[in-house]
Amino acid sequence: RRDSAPVATRTTCPYCGVGCGVLAARDGDDARVSGDPDHPSNFGRLCSKGSALGETVGLRGRLLYPMRRAAQGFARVSWDAALADVAKGFAQIIERHGPDAVAIYLSGQLLTEDYYVGNKLMKGFIGSANVDTNSRLCMASTVAGQKRAFGSDTVPGCYEDLDETDLAVLVGSNAAWCHPILFNRIVRNKEKRGARIVVVDTRRTATAESADLFLQLVPGSDQALFSGLLAHLFRAGICDRDFIRERTEGFDDALASAIRLAPTISETAALTGVGETDLQRFFDMFARTERTVTLFSQGVNQSSQGADKVNAIINCHLATGRIGKIGAGPFSLTGQPNAMGGREVGGLANSLAAHMGFEFENVERLRRFWRAPRMAPREGLKAVDMFGAVAAGKIKALWVVGTNPAASMPDADRIRAAIGGLELLVVSDNVLSNDTINSGAHILLPAQAWGEKNGTVTNSERRISRQRAFLPSPGETRADWRIFSEVAKAMGFSGFDYKSAADVFREHAALSAFENDGRRDFDIGGLATLDEKDYDALEPTQWPYRAHANFGTKRLFGEGGFFRANGRAAFVAPRAPSLATAISPDYPLRLNTGRIRDQWHTMTRTGASPRLARHLAEPFLEINPDDAAAFGIEDGGFARVTTVHGACVLRVVATDRQPKGHIFAPIHWTDETAAQARVGALVASFADPVSGQPEMKATPAAVAPR
Ligand code: SF4
Repeated sequence: RRDSAPVATRTTCPYCGVGCGVLAARDGDDARVSGDPDHPSNFGRLCSKGSALGETVGLRGRLLYPMRRAAQGFARVSWDAALADVAKGFAQIIERHGPDAVAIYLSGQLLTEDYYVGNKLMKGFIGSANVDTNSRLCMASTVAGQKRAFGSDTVPGCYEDLDETDLAVLVGSNAAWCHPILFNRIVRNKEKRGARIVVVDTRRTATAESADLFLQLVPGSDQALFSGLLAHLFRAGICDRDFIRERTEGFDDALASAIRLAPTISETAALTGVGETDLQRFFDMFARTERTVTLFSQGVNQSSQGADKVNAIINCHLATGRIGKIGAGPFSLTGQPNAMGGREVGGLANSLAAHMGFEFENVERLRRFWRAPRMAPREGLKAVDMFGAVAAGKIKALWVVGTNPAASMPDADRIRAAIGGLELLVVSDNVLSNDTINSGAHILLPAQAWGEKNGTVTNSERRISRQRAFLPSPGETRADWRIFSEVAKAMGFSGFDYKSAADVFREHAALSAFENDGRRDFDIGGLATLDEKDYDALEPTQWPYRAHANFGTKRLFGEGGFFRANGRAAFVAPRAPSLATAISPDYPLRLNTGRIRDQWHTMTRTGASPRLARHLAEPFLEINPDDAAAFGIEDGGFARVTTVHGACVLRVVATDRQPKGHIFAPIHWTDETAAQARVGALVASFADPVSGQPEMKATPAAVAPR
């Protein structure tokens, strides 16, 4: 019997980009967790994954000490020895082959402070921009699309818009499972205010169950749908001519392109596979509803034309002036808890810290601010190309931090073989064993996990929230920002004498305001002077939060300029829809991959919760019943799924949620958790040439009974 409840710590959920506030307290070997009623992103609500966090904090399988590869497995070494190995190994390879022979691969699970120091080390001191993140698989197309349209990677709106909108259009997003608390907010708005919901997807998901209108389109045709919509808005006289004239450019070209691609409802129907009646309904709804929010996620992003799809959506909002207004705007749903924070510090190989690009003046600005001895002069390799360079032997040392690319990257068997051949593979993680570690890691560095570490994350509405420690740091685990700093110092670099996460955050905030005359969107200069106490007490805050401001910024672009040089937003004409690969008689189906409701990524944490395992307990394949019959596969039996890249064996779920010709498999299981179910091994790695994001939802595949 407990006499009194332990005092709860306010922190943030480590899973999806909704960024829910959590109250957490240690409770024996577990933790007691509830929603934070004062957090403005969730007001006390948590989904199944967030509610089960308390079951996931045990130390089973944890990496607690630095390890070095030994004749058999790994042997424990001191921190000093491990840091010296990493520093010396990197330095020797740089000496022999130059800075581009080393790389760091980061994670959207890391805290902003971790990300910041890792990027500073690589881009400012090692002198290579070969630092990319698994957010490349998640958000890169949105980043590219937003930059082309706004001149900056800015999400214009906020969650309150979902309470105030009259029409929520969800494109390529199973938000009911992947962003549940936000989706509940959308559904509550429907119940309270009569808002309508349109779901656009290739498969009938749980999200589609709540839709007033479900448009089941063929893979890859999103930009045809939104081109058809743009043409319709013009024909219907709905376009906001003043907004277009005064605040944008490129409308005529984008409209001409849209009309060429999808001139009529019937031609849009032919391109998208959606019936004409449903298309007409959608177009009319969109045209008539001033307060429209279009939310999009991985179904849009994970595409070889993802950036074009994002721009096709943004075009419709620019054409109607529906951006930055209450209840209206394009809205990217971030996959991971800190994909946004990672972008803010330059976690992508094609960006620098504080949302700066590689233009000469930005490189020089960073050089001055960091007193950097060796700034990376140009963009580095994006994830798919980075692992290609590993396979080609050009990258010889790789440091993987908080992610498992041997399971989660497309063409994962090839990734596993490639990293197995590295001269030096360093892994910072919480676990003793995963597919990446088992592919041939040389050094393992034990990192603190959620509940043990301190820092900040940024969610989908640009809200910076604190993750706070409420558990002791077990074994010899350390914060990732500290590990990066210590390797930097061991390599002889100065400028890494951080005493705390707050210390790192202050520098990050000061950089955002450094020589920023308002033409850079990311500015949190108002938070640059927080002392330790203020940082600890930091309330969830939206950026920009400029110096001398008393509060953050709810919406952008409602008025004033955009962040392009001329202050105007740009319409971008998308390419005609196409997929990177073609089906064939040998591979006649299209494989789509994604998340399920109660698991997170490779299940490192959620796999520890028995209650979460009850939802969907094993890897599976969804297939249309007609296809199942045609290929001799029985519902409930096993099927062997093959692509040119690999093979898996999965339990069959025959369901008409899947359209004919398309199959779906979840991404979560790995060689650690289920035999022959590492779905990443099946996926093709063709990437969008604009964003570098791979097409993970349309790989040609074959199925056969097992
Ligand atoms: Fe965590 Fe996302 Fe669930 Fe919120 S909606 S509790 S952030 S997993």
